Parts: sequence; C-alpha cells; structure tokens
Amino acid sequence: ETVQGLAQAIEMLERASSVTVLCHVQPDADTIGSGLALGSVLERRGATVQVAFAAPASLPESMDELPGRHLLVDADKVTDTVDLVVTVDAGSRGRLGSLGDRLDTASATLVIDHHRSNTRFGTVNVVHASAESTTAVIARLLDQWGVEIDADLAHLLFAGLVTDTGSFRWVRPGSHLLAERLLATGIDGAHIARKLLDTHPFDWLPMLGSVLGSATLIPDAADGRGLVYAVIRSEDSAGLRSEEVESVIDIVRTTSEAEVAAVLKQQDFGSVWVVSLRSKTEVDVSAVACELGGGGHRNAAGYTAHGDLPDVIDALRGALSAS
Ligand code: 5GP
Ligand code: MN
Ligand code: MN
Repeated sequence: ETVQGLAQAIEMLERASSVTVLCHVQPDADTIGSGLALGSVLERRGATVQVAFAAPASLPESMDELPGRHLLVDADKVTDTVDLVVTVDAGSRGRLGSLGDRLDTASATLVIDHHRSNTRFGTVNVVHASAESTTAVIARLLDQWGVEIDADLAHLLFAGLVTDTGSFRWVRPGSHLLAERLLATGIDGAHIARKLLDTHPFDWLPMLGSVLGSATLIPDAADGRGLVYAVIRSEDSAGLRSEEVESVIDIVRTTSEAEVAAVLKQQDFGSVWVVSLRSKTEVDVSAVACELGGGGHRNAAGYTAHGDLPDVIDALRGALSAS
C-alpha cells in the first residue's frame, strides 16, 4: 500500500498545474512544515500554489521564520478552482475546519498524513501510521519523486520532525537518520528547536503556576489507572499565545501516578473546550478521543467538547473508564 500510494500521489502532483495545500486548524509545525515544503516543491516546478489553514487567522509566531511563508493565503481568500487539493497532517475532514468544503470543489484530492485514525477522505491517501511526522512522509515522497532536499526544505521537514517526536523522545529506527540528513544541509537545528518549542514570554510562568497549581489527580479513573488533568480557563491564557497554552500538556503528562493526562482549554470564556489527551503506554487515547468526536494517535489525541466543565469532565471519565 505504501509504495503504491506514493507512486499515485507523485503522478497526481506532477499532473496538477494549480494546487491548494490545506493544513489543519490550530496548525502545528508538522502541518505547516509539510504544507510549505510540498508547496515550495510544486511552486519550483511551475505550479500555482496556495497553502492555507482555517483557524486561527494568523500563523503562530513561533513559525514566523519558516521558509516559504509567502505561499500562505488567508482562509477566506483561497480560490476554489484548482486541479488538486492536498491535505497534510489532517486525520479527518473536520480537522480542516471551514476549509473542508474545498475538497468538494477540486477534481482530485490527495491526503498525506500519519494519523492512525485517518478516515481516508481523499481520492488518493498516503497514510503512514508508523511515520513520526507528516514531514517524514513528505521526505519519503520527495525521495521517491527524485526531488533534492535543500536547506529550505530541510528546515521545514525538521520543524515537523522535532515537534512531533517531542524533541526526539518518541523515535523509532530511522528517525535520527532522517534528522542527520536534514541537519547535513546546514540548517541550525538547535535554533529551529528553540524557536518552535522552547521560547515563552515571562507571563507564561505565572500562568503555569496557576493552572498546574489546581491540577487534579484521580487514581483509578483510566480503566483502573490514574488520570491527571488541568484546566486552562480563558482568563488564565489571556494575552498569551497558543504556544504557551499548548505547552501545558507536556508538563501535566509527566505525572508518574497517571497513565492518562488531559488538559481542557476553554475557548473565548464560553462552553467550548479543546481537550488534549496523552497516555504513557496502556491506554489508547486515540480511541477515547474518537468516541468523543476527535481523533489522533495512540498516545496523543484530542477532541472538542461542548458544555459546562463538570459535564465535560464526566464525559471524559466515562469514556476513559470504558477504554
Ligand atoms: P494536541 O493535543 O497536540 O492538539 O493533539 C494531539 C494529537 O491529536 C494530534 O496528532 C492531533 O492531530 C490530534 N487531534 C487533536 N484534536 C483533534 C480533533 O479534534 N480531531 C482529530 N481527529 N484529531 C485531533
Ligand atoms: Mn498536527
Ligand atoms: Mn503530525
């Protein structure tokens, strides 16, 4: 399936003279790195290219040094008459937000992803569930295509690889070989990693103090194992970037008493909660998230919940106890 999917994908990409590349909502460095890398290659080949994501309106600040940003088009300016729509790092249509309807306007659609829960919503689907990042899938595609990975492409591919491997903690054989190839182009890996993952304003610290200080540990909530969760209310995150909000789960999930960690992020002082889930080994949080309307990977998943906080927590506990 792997090789065949790639061959078909390359054929589609070579044929298209106008392409829209869609990244997922609340974009991370994997979806943007993949989108801009593929977009840059297509642009060099002479295609008309637009790269877009639905929300929020602007690119996270931590990504403002990524090459190829000139390809980004505001969501409401995406033209809908193109030969091909490609989605990168999106496990389902829903992850494209308001841009999901662009899939219906193109004559062909190509899905490139690494989520186990991918619903294969494209005409052709290149889904490598064992890949560390979608940028690792793109690297494989470029190799098979015969496209040389120069420093700009390497910067983009490294951005997704370093982010989705948790700075090379969740790795498998081959991860470091890909990193080595990318670094050998001369990119500054330490700078790229610090900019994307290790840079926060001072106000991050009091937010962490408040949010982590009221975290909750429930010893048997996750099918007999521990659940730890923290809540980020809109007043906690006021004035902070998505980078600060998204960093919290990486601290909460280190709790040794808990197999599963959750961070519930309130949207706009309202009753919509974006929930991040992580597990260590046993629990498949992708299945839990799917049951609650989301998706993801076995050990990292997410979903969006609607309602009052106690009800949202009850629903999460219900899904976990049955997991
Ligand atoms: P995060 O907690 O970092 O936002 O997301 C963890 C993983 O779960 C990511 O791979 C992300 O793509 C996936 N994920 C997060 N939220 C959703 C969602 O609402 N729907 C789906 N299908 N996947 C999600
Ligand atoms: Mn992603
Ligand atoms: Mn990814």
